[in-house]
Amino acid sequence: MKSHSTPNRRQFLAQAMLLAAAPSIMPSLAMGQTASAGTKNQTIRVLLVTGQEYPGHPWKQTAPVLAEQLQKDARLQVRTVEDPHCLDSEAILRYDVILLHFMNWEQPAPGEKARENLRRAIENGKGLGLVHFACGAWQDWPEFRNLAGRAWDPKLRGHDPRGPFRVEICTPGHPIGQGLKDFETDDELYTCLAGDRPIEVVAQARSKVDGKNYPMAFVLNYGKGRVFHCVLGHDAKALQPEGVGELYRRGCRWAAGA
Ligand SMILES: [Zn+2]
Repeated sequence: MKSHSTPNRRQFLAQAMLLAAAPSIMPSLAMGQTASAGTKNQTIRVLLVTGQEYPGHPWKQTAPVLAEQLQKDARLQVRTVEDPHCLDSEAILRYDVILLHFMNWEQPAPGEKARENLRRAIENGKGLGLVHFACGAWQDWPEFRNLAGRAWDPKLRGHDPRGPFRVEICTPGHPIGQGLKDFETDDELYTCLAGDRPIEVVAQARSKVDGKNYPMAFVLNYGKGRVFHCVLGHDAKALQPEGVGELYRRGCRWAAGA
């Protein structure tokens, strides 16, 4: 839509029908609301950003499983992009939630333009999600730790040996934790997060190595935006438990403000 014209409702609807790339924005704008304001039945457009992972993380296997898990909720419409440099583009503003699922220290992370584009989008009210090793997506961007709430610190112990553990829901009063039961999973229990920004831990797990509790999923606000950060999901098997899927579905809905 050109900025110098103010289309009437009929023109707008005609244009909106052509905007197949932005269906979630259409109903809310038609009702005179802001694009980011969530309502119970609104489609939530999730941009799953992957394609640049450390070789131990088979993103070609995990991204489809994660997308499938999310789309068990008909409101969540997932578009997978296999190039994190898409974050350079203002097209990310068409989405309600930007879900980061990439990290490869052997390749440069998306640069200054992408960082600022993403940071500003969240600050202005978009939702952000982080999946597993996305906690380390940027190692050379100090603000990332604030945006993500916590970030991978390579000086800390990485994780417990891969294996089964119990995930405990610790905020039953939060929309993400409400009515959600503790569940068993088989994953890497991450012990490598650092940062001191206030966060609300939604789910935690106890390490078999040192007996301490570590956050598995947590939330925070960044400007007008909401951030859902979950370190579960090392591989396809780890993304399959229903509890993990439910956590990501609820996390995306909450990040979208729905
Ligand atoms: Zn992993």
